Amino acid sequence: MTNVRKIDDAVHAGGDVIDVLDKGFVGLDGAFASDLAVANGARVSFNQASQELTERDEGLIRFLMRDHHGSPFEHGYFRFIIKAPIFVVREHHRHRAGHAYNEWSGRYSKMQAEFYIPDNVRTQVGKPGAYTFEPVDEETKRAARAEIKRQSAEAFAAYERMLELGVAKEVARSVLPLNMYTTYYWSCNPRSLMHFCSLRNSEFAQFEIREFAKAAETFLERLMPVTHAAFVANDRTAP
Ligand SMILES: Cc1cc2nc3c(=O)[nH]c(=O)nc-3n(C[C@H](O)[C@H](O)[C@H](O)COP(=O)(O)OP(=O)(O)OC[C@H]3O[C@@H](n4cnc5c(N)ncnc54)[C@H](O)[C@@H]3O)c2cc1C
Repeated sequence: MTNVRKIDDAVHAGGDVIDVLDKGFVGLDGAFASDLAVANGARVSFNQASQELTERDEGLIRFLMRDHHGSPFEHGYFRFIIKAPIFVVREHHRHRAGHAYNEWSGRYSKMQAEFYIPDNVRTQVGKPGAYTFEPVDEETKRAARAEIKRQSAEAFAAYERMLELGVAKEVARSVLPLNMYTTYYWSCNPRSLMHFCSLRNSEFAQFEIREFAKAAETFLERLMPVTHAAFVANDRTAP
């Protein structure tokens, strides 16, 4: 099967990829999304359609966003391919409405020894509900990174030892840590993407998922600039 490649290689060959964290990425694998589709999703109410986006259509998009007429923003489709640490994926997959996911299976193939080693090592200050995160000193950062690297390597070695003993992948994987990288497809419509970005490209979101949300939002801005500007003007609230 010569046309089958590892996802990392295939994605980076495709080009439309934003690298995220130390080894992750957000790639746009396909899209069917435009500002014109939003305007026409609303214009059909009057049995009308625009052939190209006019200033009137742009005003209509701003009105729809402001007044929470959300359904015209559902006529689009983004298909991303993501490589992210498992703890980021757990946060991501909480987003249900208008999202679809398919992920690499550790039951069917051997996982790779790729682990997130954070550069942004921080300490948590304050009370629940009002935490802030501040960088640690260099010595603490070095120690934390060394701990994470060592634990990751030890966990992977135990995983491989079990595989060599003939233990099933689905059982052996139970020792693998949350900072292991995995890969998945993520598809969503523009409305669900905006809701995701409002929650995860936010100062309240964890740094790591925020980096992925920022990258995804870049593609929304590129493909649907009028919609994106209206979303930002609407306090980053999805309609
Ligand atoms: C900063 C932050 C901290 C978080 N902390 C925690 C945590 O400590 N523990 C935890 O478990 N989760 C936590 N979450 C996850 C959070 O609770 C949501 O699961 C996640 O943000 C997805 O949001 P959502 O449900 O609005 O999105 P979606 O699942 O995409 O839903 C979109 C919208 O559809 C509607 N909807 C979807 N499903 C239903 C339903 N079953 N019933 C009624 N309406 C529905 C709602 O209006 C919802 O807002 C956190 C999220 C953030 C951003």
